[in-house]
Amino acid sequence: MPEVEEIRTIPHWVDNKPFVGAGGTTSPVTNPASGVITGHVALANVEESRQVINAAAAAFPAWRDASLAKRTTILFKFRELLNERKLELAEIITSEHGKVVSDALGEVSRGQEVVEFACGIAHLLKGGTTENASTNVDVHSVRQPLGPVAIISPFNFPAMVPMWFFPIAIAAGNTVVLKPSEKNPSAAIWVAELWAEAGLPAGVFNVLQGDKTAVDELLTNPAVKAVSFVGSTPIAEYVYATGTAHGKRVQALGGAKNHAIVLPDADLDLAADAMVNAGFGSAGERCMAISVIVAVGNIADELVQKIKERTLTLKTGDGTRDSDMGPLVTKAHRDKVASYVDAGERDGVTIVVDGRTVQPDGEANGFWLGPTLIDNVTTDMSVYTDEIFGPVLSVLRVDSYEEALDLINAGPFGNGTAIFTNDGGAARRFQNEVEVGMIGINVPIPVPTAYYSFGGWKSSLFGDTHAHGIEGVHFFTRGKVVTSRWLDPSHGGINLGFPQNN
Ligand code: NAD
Repeated sequence: MPEVEEIRTIPHWVDNKPFVGAGGTTSPVTNPASGVITGHVALANVEESRQVINAAAAAFPAWRDASLAKRTTILFKFRELLNERKLELAEIITSEHGKVVSDALGEVSRGQEVVEFACGIAHLLKGGTTENASTNVDVHSVRQPLGPVAIISPFNFPAMVPMWFFPIAIAAGNTVVLKPSEKNPSAAIWVAELWAEAGLPAGVFNVLQGDKTAVDELLTNPAVKAVSFVGSTPIAEYVYATGTAHGKRVQALGGAKNHAIVLPDADLDLAADAMVNAGFGSAGERCMAISVIVAVGNIADELVQKIKERTLTLKTGDGTRDSDMGPLVTKAHRDKVASYVDAGERDGVTIVVDGRTVQPDGEANGFWLGPTLIDNVTTDMSVYTDEIFGPVLSVLRVDSYEEALDLINAGPFGNGTAIFTNDGGAARRFQNEVEVGMIGINVPIPVPTAYYSFGGWKSSLFGDTHAHGIEGVHFFTRGKVVTSRWLDPSHGGINLGFPQNN
């Protein structure tokens, strides 16, 4: 792999300062559009991981007791700085992920929504009060922070996915250790610097760079009270099992295979636009990407033709140029995705648009794979059964709505889905019958806004609580109910019976 002359080390972030340990190893970080190594990220060993966790634990008592006014002042400041400077963050994302800058900016904006939601934490944490639940006895409820919490994030949204969690965690009074993907670790350091500039006290937001060693320490160290994980399903299952076995609260969001059903009465132009946007945006490296189109009835030929025409207009290239779609994140991932297209070809799919032969607007050593459209896919093919996580749209043809619904409900995942139709009754029936957590009706990527909660069903999420929205507030706090009576000369004396309301 070509290497630039000056290689920087991408550090951890502890106590509002960068920190490079002496004991851990490093891993190369590449620019996917050129294949050039742009840095080496520190990979923490156990001792370094403990150092970061200890900093978060030490900062917790003071942060937990900081007033809501102080916490929200810092959150508002962070929001203002982020809003002013988000292009810097977007450019960092593009340089290590590959997605085009406009898409990276979109990711930051969706993360910013959660910061804005968390700015209202004073209202969100309000409990209830009941006066005279029993004679002279009052009851009130509060929600309190948990302690140091870990966020373990995937490569595909280096800013947005951590922002699903840390604004709410911090606002609620927790301290945070963020473990980003080792494929694109720099966004987390930029965010950490921004928090420091916004006035967040040392130790409240920390970054632990690393791999399985760091993750295992976060999952087993007793100081860590909760873990929010996002990544592939096998690792999500492992994280959930290990974290909960060590007494932690865990929400582990896993993989996806999202289907879009197109009914015969749908507006096919709208549906074709949506399929292209949702299938090829961010090179298909989105957990809410549409990867399977289920064409119902006799519209399949016309729909495929419309998607083909649109796909052929897309420009694949360097995300800093005028491209629609960037490269894949690493060479290994690019080769894996291409191997699924090879397998589909061997299994007899019709290759309508072949991204393997793309002529990109970018360096020869970039990790290129163009948008790929394949038709006549069947459910026994690996291109259908596996999460591919690349720019490959498969078309399955079925005869009825029921057949389409059964396909989705038979699958292992339940993250997102969409239906395209002009029939309100059909859409309403679909939203009721489909076993999926997030549903779009004539909307291809139905990512809920920050004040709702994000999460899938089945193997797309392990744990009970979805991300952000009120569920996020509940995840990062625990409830207490206080029953109180103030001294009253008319108290009733000793009574060993079970408390009853009277
Ligand atoms: P990944 O599972 O490889 O990595 C996720 C995190 O786990 C990273 O921080 C990584 O360092 C860590 N990790 C990797 N291997 C590990 C191991 N053996 N033990 C402990 N930790 C380990 O996922 P990825 O490739 O970075 O991201 C893509 C995946 O994430 C896709 O499956 C995608 O569907 C999923 N994803 C899901 C959602 C969702 O909301 N459900 C959102 C984004 C991405």
